Amino acid sequence: MAVPFDQLDGEIWMDGAFVPWRDAKVHVLTHALHYASSVFEGERAYGGEIFACEAHTDRLFASAQAMGFAIPFGKDEINAAKREALARTGLADAYLRPIAWRGSEMMGVSAQKNTIHCAIAVWAWPAYFDPALRAKGIRLAIADWRRPDPRSAPCKAKAAGLYMICTLSKHAAEAAGYQDALMFDYRGHVAEATGANVFFVKDGALHTPTPDCFLDGITRRTVIGLAKARGIAVHERTILPEELGTFEECFLTGTAAEVTPVGEIGPHRYTPGAITLAMIDDYAAAVRAHPLKAVA
Ligand code: PMP
Repeated sequence: MAVPFDQLDGEIWMDGAFVPWRDAKVHVLTHALHYASSVFEGERAYGGEIFACEAHTDRLFASAQAMGFAIPFGKDEINAAKREALARTGLADAYLRPIAWRGSEMMGVSAQKNTIHCAIAVWAWPAYFDPALRAKGIRLAIADWRRPDPRSAPCKAKAAGLYMICTLSKHAAEAAGYQDALMFDYRGHVAEATGANVFFVKDGALHTPTPDCFLDGITRRTVIGLAKARGIAVHERTILPEELGTFEECFLTGTAAEVTPVGEIGPHRYTPGAITLAMIDDYAAAVRAHPLKAVA
């Protein structure tokens, strides 16, 4: 059995200082644990450099603002702490998890006086989906849960509470033998997977849902830029479930998932083809497109 995450070795940056990994604890009476008052990021470093470091920090601060709290550090301090946390692991390729949350001063719905805490952990995380599945593409179930109406939740924030339906959807998919689930939104339009955005290919062009009620992923935006640089047309638009049978290729994008081919969505079949493979290659090159730094 894998070592639990609270029993790894190393250090975690917490509220301005590095603490031994196993001591980076919160009390059981922490507002975030009871009321989901936390926001976080998922980032990857390649060759010792954090990809889109500033963009992730900007999103962390925007997510906190959407949740009505302010991170008690400057963006520069968070960027420096992320880089220091990565350097202390000695890892060249790694996953970073910054998180900010409301503490323990008040324990009720109102949390006006709660201190805002912040931590950054870094660990090795090779691939989100089994690499052996990549050639044929992963299998997605169709989730019962729907991405909420923007009037029902702060849907642009990368906030812990929004993942409740993601975990439920992913568990249901895994129980049925799938790797992940495709979620529709509150209107019944195609939205995203449980932790990644979705793209489709038809007649040489990319089609992807307009991110008006879910995360506009940093990987998504990167891939759109890479496709356009190749002269591939990208259509950000409403995609209806009835269209799922009309696409030729499909892939997911996300910091953890990178570019992952999809072979099935419910009854529909896709074959990873030239555009999916081009986006895998272009993304792999983009994330490493910096002078390689020697990592001690
Ligand atoms: N949607 C959800 C629900 C996610 O958790 C993620 C991963 N952060 C994404 C999309 C993709 O975002 P990004 O490319 O910025 O990692």
